[in-house]
Amino acid sequence: MVKIDQFKTRLSSEKERLERMIASRETSATTHGQPGFNESFSNSGDDEYADAATDMFYQELDHTMLNKYRHRLDGINGALSRIEAGTYGTCIRCHTAIGEGRLDAVPETAYCRECEADVEIQD
Ligand SMILES: [Zn+2]
Repeated sequence: MVKIDQFKTRLSSEKERLERMIASRETSATTHGQPGFNESFSNSGDDEYADAATDMFYQELDHTMLNKYRHRLDGINGALSRIEAGTYGTCIRCHTAIGEGRLDAVPETAYCRECEADVEIQD
């Protein structure tokens, strides 16, 4: 028997954490990069090209991280709605039970180990 309550607690707190990180990333993206990083880099020289490249790098990084957080948040929301629906812990593709060890490692997973491998290839 899967410890649903335990996973629900973990997923809920992870969801809150991600929402906070997304909110702070979005703020830093609109204010043009992260002050902390830019300061330490601009101290190392006056090269404008390097500064611009650094800015672009961090904007790109922010974008990548945001997508990553949003993707994870989507997965977590999906897992939470499966908990509500009572289908949590069952693979949404082949409907077999997902091992508890796997749920413990990746609580938001919707797939069993075999399907996950298939889905990743298709992506
Ligand atoms: Zn499966």
